[in-house]
Amino acid sequence: MRRMNSDKRQLPAMKLDELQALVATWKQPKFRARQILDWRNKGVLSPDAMKNISSDLRQKLKDEICCEPLKLIRRECSVDGTRKYVFALTRMRAAGKMIESVFIPEEKRGTVCISSQVGCVFDCPFCHTGTQGFEANLTAGEIIAQVLAIKADLHAEPLPDELHSDITHIVYMGMGEPMANEDAVLSSIGLLMDKDGLNISRRRITVSTSGLIPQIQRLGAVYPVNLAISLHSAIDDKRDTLVPINRKYSLQALRACLNAYSIGKQRHITLEYVLLDQTNDQDEDVQALIRFVNPERERVNLIQFNPYPGSPYAGTSKQNMKVFAQWLISKGIRATVRRSRGDDIMAACGQLKADTKADSNADTKG
Ligand code: SF4
Repeated sequence: MRRMNSDKRQLPAMKLDELQALVATWKQPKFRARQILDWRNKGVLSPDAMKNISSDLRQKLKDEICCEPLKLIRRECSVDGTRKYVFALTRMRAAGKMIESVFIPEEKRGTVCISSQVGCVFDCPFCHTGTQGFEANLTAGEIIAQVLAIKADLHAEPLPDELHSDITHIVYMGMGEPMANEDAVLSSIGLLMDKDGLNISRRRITVSTSGLIPQIQRLGAVYPVNLAISLHSAIDDKRDTLVPINRKYSLQALRACLNAYSIGKQRHITLEYVLLDQTNDQDEDVQALIRFVNPERERVNLIQFNPYPGSPYAGTSKQNMKVFAQWLISKGIRATVRRSRGDDIMAACGQLKADTKADSNADTKG
């Protein structure tokens, strides 16, 4: 009897030994697992495209495994080379739900920004994803499938020579709060780092979180990847509004957690700070931030606010952003103003929110 998609293991989340065990039950030689994995690692997930395996084995894969947990609905390309992808989940219980992922090319690196949830429960008022509410956690396979689909797309249609068309870095900064889906996210990090899989160094993986402290502690103990914190204010009263998880885990608790997080040599924790006009860009804000930051271990990434339809905030002017940054730098804090990428296609930071109505023609049978 064929299994439904929701019950099947997902090919993007399988390790070599699991595949070897599976093909052995089908009376196939061990090396077939390696062949399947080689296709998978290139982003080729459809068994029909795996040219060096038999039609019997292809059929077994289709029957027994969910090979393609995502369906590409749409790709949008920015004038700066950034690509935004809208995917639909294919497993039955999440059929029709959309996520977004972004590829950000630079001269010497290519970064994939991946989603970990459909929507988000935390409702940070400046964040477009937060306005969607929480809909579903992604599985580890769905998280990895974003990277694989983008890899295949870049192979099929590379960017111009001056931009990197390879994936060198992964950031968990798309839709959702990664630490609220910690089991799947930890599992996906293990898969990204797997030597038989994508083999990406933990130094090239960054998890961005609003500050769920027990989960950050677990992340640091299991996979101490790069950490980015959505700080956005160093004043509890303001952060309670901007990042509501602060009501549960205050700045003092966050401070202790960051001090204990293992970062290794020549690495640092990034404190993300989106600058909102007349909200968190005043003298008292920069002074509080200077008191909060540990310049030996942390740097501040100042982010230009990217408005979305109906957003209640305006961004700080470019001139005032520079003044804010200079003030931090004058106190010995490494502060950079992040260049906004892909804002013409709503792919910039805080703008991701899959428009399920616009994409409702998706074919998502489980
Ligand atoms: S900023 Fe992060 S935690 Fe806050 S609503 Fe947006 S996705 Fe969720």
